Amino acid sequence: MKPLEQLLRPNIRHLKPYSSARDEYSGEAAVFLDANENPFNAPYNRYPDPYQRELKKHIARIKGVSSKKIFLGNGSDEAIDIVLRAFCEPGIDNIVSIVPTYGMYQVAADINNIEVRKALLTPDFQLDPKAILNQVDEHTKVIFLCSPNNPTGNCFREAHILEVLESFDGMVVLDEAYIDFAAEKSWLPRLNVWPNLVILQTFSKAWGMAGIRLGMAFADEAIINTFSKIKYPYNINLLTQKKALEFLEKNQDTMQTWVNELLEEKKKLIEALKAIPFVQKIFPSDANFLLIKTENPQKIYNFLVDKKIIIRDRSSVALCEGCLRVTVGAPEENQLLIEALKML
Ligand SMILES: *Cc1c(COP(=O)(O)O)cnc(C)c1O
Repeated sequence: MKPLEQLLRPNIRHLKPYSSARDEYSGEAAVFLDANENPFNAPYNRYPDPYQRELKKHIARIKGVSSKKIFLGNGSDEAIDIVLRAFCEPGIDNIVSIVPTYGMYQVAADINNIEVRKALLTPDFQLDPKAILNQVDEHTKVIFLCSPNNPTGNCFREAHILEVLESFDGMVVLDEAYIDFAAEKSWLPRLNVWPNLVILQTFSKAWGMAGIRLGMAFADEAIINTFSKIKYPYNINLLTQKKALEFLEKNQDTMQTWVNELLEEKKKLIEALKAIPFVQKIFPSDANFLLIKTENPQKIYNFLVDKKIIIRDRSSVALCEGCLRVTVGAPEENQLLIEALKML
């Protein structure tokens, strides 16, 4: 890995961050008259902890990672944006991303005026490390990988991810939004081995909290410190911090229960879909959704919309011709989907 100083944008390297009232005094006190808050309407009158210390303590315990290696964002989407703003000089630097993958890397790069260089996956949706590394030039700062990948649903081979990590001297972002559904292990325990690795996870999928907007980035302490300098001072609001804490304190086992049930439902859904004549292929999935290849995806999509069942048409995505993406729902929702498809 290149030295962090060389990878960071010069303005970020030299950035003097905003110092909030809660930065200058963060302990307990009897009277707080330092932040121009309203004394009434507790507890919502107070600014939230800018570093989410309580919440990070719980996440650190659950994930087996030091609090100092955790960044929390308004969804993983904030972390994606912050990675770009930390490392990529608009109009000069670029990132390398795979095709097909999660759409936000491209959108965040476009907003920041950063070129996206693309490497196609293999026909079985695996990484092609040579194709990825071929896209790298002297201005490439970040490579984005997503495993399990969206919309293909599969995990990438460990050896391929390793090859990218070993051969590239910039940052590698590994988006593990769906890792809790996968049999493969998270790369979190290997964070210490790879100082250029940023792992993204989220409360939006297995944790069932997409509505509160809470995403996680895990990385080397120096990188996390940089992200904390860039973020809005109070990026995680009080309600989100409280709700997430409450859930982690009381319902720690609930997430695994949900995951187990959804994996059972996925198996049933696969069996039921196999019996539908126009479903040509169900791709292997390590996530909570299935990518299926069909004869006439638009017709199926529109037919389901008429029945008030919404899935995702991915047929215009490279390598996904004819494909629809279906989230695994609750038992009765999956039943309704299958019954509708049988009527087509
Ligand atoms: C759903 C999803 C996320 C989650 O984004 P949030 O902003 O945390 O809700 C991240 N990455 C991928 C690949 C996803 O599919």
